[in-house]
Amino acid sequence: MSRLPLAFSAFSVIAASLLSLPAFAADDHHGNHPAHEHGVGKLDVALEGNTLTLHLDTPLINLVGFEHAATSARDKETVQAMAKVLRDAGRMFATDAAAQCKPAEIQLESAVLPPALLGEKSPSSAAPAAASDGHADLDGDFTLVCASPGALNTVDASALFRAFPGFQRIDVQLATPKKQAAFQLAPDNAIIPLN
Ligand SMILES: [Zn+2]
Repeated sequence: MSRLPLAFSAFSVIAASLLSLPAFAADDHHGNHPAHEHGVGKLDVALEGNTLTLHLDTPLINLVGFEHAATSARDKETVQAMAKVLRDAGRMFATDAAAQCKPAEIQLESAVLPPALLGEKSPSSAAPAAASDGHADLDGDFTLVCASPGALNTVDASALFRAFPGFQRIDVQLATPKKQAAFQLAPDNAIIPLN
């Protein structure tokens, strides 16, 4: 298990960041974003009432293998296929069947990709800008509504790791009315305990 005490995981992240400085870049589009480290994603999970919200913040490379604007037909196909898989939120973030959670709203955004390519129906007015430093992120907001939230015990992100082998690790921050915790997920350890 990689359920490390918070202080230690924070130290690991700092240590890892010092060792991989070239992979880091400040993100001009979302100034409050944490560091950008290839292979690593961040996932905020919150449960409030019957609503489970997940916010995924990841270097784009983890999902499509590049971080430049999708100019070629092949790049565009790759992005569209990625968005389609990611939008299958009930599979990417599997929940207990008894909780009867269903995806209610999904929003994908990346500074270098047109919203339409990500499957957004009402594109924001912001035109995609080229990444000035060669790095780009993708932000995903996933809202699931659960008919029986009391039966919700875990969120399983195994399918997300299987679909996108670019993820080596996902750092999770969990907040429920009863619990606040941090977890590190890996391809062979991708289940978030909610209780
Ligand atoms: Zn990058």
